[in-house]
Amino acid sequence: MDSGDLKRLKNLVEKRLDIETAYQISRGLRWQEATASWHSVEGMGETIGMTIQQRRMNQELPMQAISVPNIDGKQAPGLIKIAVIGDVHDQWEAVDGLALQQLGIDLALFVGDFGNESVEIVRAIAALDIPKAVIFGNHDAWYSASHWGKQKCPYDRSKEDRVQQQFDLLGDLHVGYGKRDFPDLNLTVVGARPFSWGGSEWKNPEFYQAHYGIHNFAESTAQIVAAADQAAYNTIIFLGHCGPSGLGDRPDDPCGKDWQPIGGDHGDPDFAAAIDQVRQQGKTIPLVAFGHMHHHLRHTKQSLRTPLLVSPEATVYLNAAAVPRIIQTDQTRQCNFSLVYLLNGTVLQSSLIWVDQNFTVTTEQILYSQPALAIEG
Ligand SMILES: [Zn+2]
Repeated sequence: MDSGDLKRLKNLVEKRLDIETAYQISRGLRWQEATASWHSVEGMGETIGMTIQQRRMNQELPMQAISVPNIDGKQAPGLIKIAVIGDVHDQWEAVDGLALQQLGIDLALFVGDFGNESVEIVRAIAALDIPKAVIFGNHDAWYSASHWGKQKCPYDRSKEDRVQQQFDLLGDLHVGYGKRDFPDLNLTVVGARPFSWGGSEWKNPEFYQAHYGIHNFAESTAQIVAAADQAAYNTIIFLGHCGPSGLGDRPDDPCGKDWQPIGGDHGDPDFAAAIDQVRQQGKTIPLVAFGHMHHHLRHTKQSLRTPLLVSPEATVYLNAAAVPRIIQTDQTRQCNFSLVYLLNGTVLQSSLIWVDQNFTVTTEQILYSQPALAIEG
């Protein structure tokens, strides 16, 4: 090991300078040495380190199945290219919408948390000229759902209702406790419980009573199943803010609890029960997309959250919450999307991509490839 290289790498990451050089130096170092150099760096530097780590994973992991995206998204008849947009947290600009168009996306799925009742971001997303479905997250009712939030509210709640403004902007684009049919794609997107905080406790009862007349998880499950019953198509994509329970109870599982006390399944039990019931009705469920539980873990910097699991029924469970979704440095601005390629009701491949200001995909981390394809590739 060359300790000079290690120092140089840490310096570049810390000062957010010349990420390309930092990446090239990192490739000459052993994995642990390289990652250790930015685990001591806070904030943006840490995020840049993670990006370098992802690029290395792309280089160093076997990539037999990379041929799927290389057919340019549209060449295989019936191939559907879906972008899942993880928790936005106030990071959305016009260029992100242009990126979705440049990428040739057939369907955009937004998992919510646009900001703390950030009406302007919801307005921008509602105006996007691309097929889409949206579910609101807990931050989208940050000052309206709980007593705590109402006390912190920076605007006069007797004069305006920003939750309602967001509902009005999206109209039937919002699929929480509802559904949206996509005839061109031969599928229906069904929304789970909107504004979810996750976990096994029924939170914000007055809010759910007022908006939906729902009082507990059982009623919530029934509402999601009722929405799926209205689906025009047999292929169902589920969209939630938090994912369903049942995906593991370790802190780095897709919905695992990474704050004190560490560990435990923080998924939504009503969502899990609804998926089970809809599956038993014989519907095809290729994808369950969600966010809320960020990829960066609160209890450790040594690893990231597992972003994707596949069930025995071949349903892909995708946590798209790679937060922050925009990384801005002196030289470049990159934003992330999770991509899912769907063909005939099954997921062929899923990846997390970073796109720069020229709409170039700078990083593609393959999260899943259908095994048969990997052999063919
Ligand atoms: Zn959230």
